[in-house]
Amino acid sequence: MARGVTRSGGCRCGAVRFRAEGEPNWVAHCHCRDCRSVTASPMTTYVAYPRDKVSMVKGAPRTFASSPGATRGFCSACGTPINFEGERWPGETHLFVCTFDEPRDFEPSVHVQVAQQLPWLHLGDTLPRYERFPPDEEA
Ligand SMILES: [Zn+2]
Ligand SMILES: [Zn+2]
Repeated sequence: MARGVTRSGGCRCGAVRFRAEGEPNWVAHCHCRDCRSVTASPMTTYVAYPRDKVSMVKGAPRTFASSPGATRGFCSACGTPINFEGERWPGETHLFVCTFDEPRDFEPSVHVQVAQQLPWLHLGDTLPRYERFPPDEEA
């Protein structure tokens, strides 16, 4: 991805639109139970940005505490998940790759929380897989 790039996305109904500036910190597939229930999907794919590089350009997500130390935002009109912020990642906002206008722009580099991966989900990629998180992020 080129430096200085700005990427846009938003919810399904268009009430919430956001913009993310510059390079993301990382892109990862998450298999945890919490993400599964919030997205109603067997896994989800995040892109992490510094919080100050993400701005809401239309509307704002409604937020709730999804687990201790974690806040999730969603569109109050259509329900699309918008973001995740957790104490483990201070200063970061995690957005969902598939809410961006061009999800193809983001290349995931890792699977996390595979200890909770559903047994019937079979993926053919060769990315590194971590039971929880990469060693430098273990709490
Ligand atoms: Zn919406
Ligand atoms: Zn997760």
